Amino acid sequence: MRASMVCMAHHVLRFAAGTDVGQRRKVNEDSAYAGPRLLAVADGMGGHPHGDVASRAAITAIAELAARLSPDLPAGDDLAADLAAVVAGITRRLDDLGRQDAELRRMGTTLTAMAWGGAGFTVAHVGDSRGYLLRDGALVQITRDHTMVQSLVDGGQLTMEEAARHPRSSVLVRALQSGSDAHPDIYRQDARPGDRFLLCSDGVFGYVPHEAIRSAVAGSAEPERVVARLIDLANGAGGPDNITCVVADVLPASAGAGERVPLTIGAAGRDAAGPLARLGRRLRRA
Ligand code: MG
Repeated sequence: MRASMVCMAHHVLRFAAGTDVGQRRKVNEDSAYAGPRLLAVADGMGGHPHGDVASRAAITAIAELAARLSPDLPAGDDLAADLAAVVAGITRRLDDLGRQDAELRRMGTTLTAMAWGGAGFTVAHVGDSRGYLLRDGALVQITRDHTMVQSLVDGGQLTMEEAARHPRSSVLVRALQSGSDAHPDIYRQDARPGDRFLLCSDGVFGYVPHEAIRSAVAGSAEPERVVARLIDLANGAGGPDNITCVVADVLPASAGAGERVPLTIGAAGRDAAGPLARLGRRLRRA
């Protein structure tokens, strides 16, 4: 009895990820990572130089953490401490890059990362990329935007609807940025078999209505098809920004997870022969 309860507590992830430059930008400054232990989206900050360098630095650090975590969920992982250390390391890296090259000063990125612990996630979140949970047909945002308009909503000065239409809706009050300390939200998120999680950049939810996102996320059994549908919807809405999605299903361990090769995409995925590609090979052998 006890053995079956222990067994039931361990589930696995089936994941997919996709990114698209959109219809109006020349460069994709978003990056994302998806693997059996970690999911993450980073959006290099618009209006700042070299957002692609910043999002690549963030997702490279996430991929390095993924390589250190065992795929077999050993007891004793402290995922909150791991994620806090990664976030602090990203800020130090952005500081170093800024010192080496004045053009890179003040570059920044969002980061929404979810580390899988076998029965739930530990979330680390800074900025205005978002995490959502689809459970029992309802899509609920599980991250809180670090934006000026969200602060106004919290203070009762704006409704959610007004905030979504606000001309300065993307102005951030927190981000990972050279020259400033990171203050990530770090917390636990429960999960159960049948749950589907979505991480995405604002190129998705900024232009696709919530109900259309919900319908797309609920609309296919395959995470890959959900990713493709969301990218189509965002491009269909004009694709003004870079578009990035990670979708992960929580499955009973007995279902197996199928393909478990980690994905690194967007700005972080461009250097296919670099350290990230080597990382991918190492994980595949593990
Ligand atoms: Mg964006």
